[in-house]
Amino acid sequence: MLAVLRSGWLTTGPEVERFEHDFAAAAGSRHAVALSSGTAALAAGMQALELAPGDEVILPTLTFAASANAIVHAGATPVFADVDPSTLLLDGADVERRITRRTRAILAVDYAGQPCDYDQLSRLAEACSIELVSDACHSLGGSYCERPVGSVAHWTAFSLHPAKAITSGEGGVLTTDDAGLANRVRRFSRHGIVRPDGERASTQPWFYEQVDLGLNLRLSDLGCALARSQLRKLPGWRERRRAIAEFYAAELAQLPGIQPLAACADREHAWHLYVVRIHPELAGLDRDRLFRALHAEGIGAQVHYIPVHLHPYYREQFGTHAGQCPVAESAYEQILSLPLFPAMSDADAARVVAALKRLLSPHRRCIPCDA
Ligand SMILES: *Cc1c(COP(=O)(O)O)cnc(C)c1O
Repeated sequence: MLAVLRSGWLTTGPEVERFEHDFAAAAGSRHAVALSSGTAALAAGMQALELAPGDEVILPTLTFAASANAIVHAGATPVFADVDPSTLLLDGADVERRITRRTRAILAVDYAGQPCDYDQLSRLAEACSIELVSDACHSLGGSYCERPVGSVAHWTAFSLHPAKAITSGEGGVLTTDDAGLANRVRRFSRHGIVRPDGERASTQPWFYEQVDLGLNLRLSDLGCALARSQLRKLPGWRERRRAIAEFYAAELAQLPGIQPLAACADREHAWHLYVVRIHPELAGLDRDRLFRALHAEGIGAQVHYIPVHLHPYYREQFGTHAGQCPVAESAYEQILSLPLFPAMSDADAARVVAALKRLLSPHRRCIPCDA
């Protein structure tokens, strides 16, 4: 980053190309486009599908709102599908039920860092001649049947937000094997402007043309320099996340009323989140009380996510309502993300487990009401 500051480039310079090259190699894709956020990657990817009003894109409701918003920004309609109760990943059978003549794409989301069942989803997409694209903002570093996330869908969006696997402050990346799509995404991120090459570039070096409507969604040279150095640390960080997840799984196995999500053997989980379900009748307290009790001890548990179809915007603009995705809705009442980050020490993880053991003990049901 200091070298970039000294070079005077700051924005689109040599670090962008270097980072895109390294990222494409890590994601197993032919092309990578660096963008200003994960949201920008999703929005540019949706734009590149050239959707028309009335076109539908199916996505799981258990995701961050940005996944659905990208579809709306591209002028199409998001159709919310339910999730599998054991993994909370997109339920292929429910997707199939929601496919109509207007369906143009499926947006898979690798919730918590576990890749979706891409074989099942691609068979479905192929049978219906629709696109399969992926929100992999949680799953950088993961893989599906030995294929890295970033190489399995038509395009894949990643986030470089500080909460994600690696960061550039704010940033995102779209990967694809489709050169035409990569060009459309790059063009959209630069105001829809193209610069001619060949003779004109030397005779009229000022010349450019806007051929499409776009935005400025570029990632700076500074951001790319930071992200490139972070990318080198990804394997070690992923390993640390996996070790903490294994520790949690072993320690929580005997505790009543707490159930980690299922991890499938055919995939490499990126362990962005460690999500458990709390069954209040066995645990002796519900998710909300456990959340407050943990926070009272300085343990930063979280809830990911409120199902997107329940948000007021989607209810009002798209007529979504409770009851549409019953599995996600009931999971939402029970899910809790335990602290999980590479800098977490063994002692930190042990403190989380000790607190859970104390709070979930069936003999200690009396949690102070103000906790
Ligand atoms: C973080 C995230 C995004 C958005 O990424 P930003 O870089 O914050 O714009 C989109 N989808 C999911 C599932 C995410 O977790």
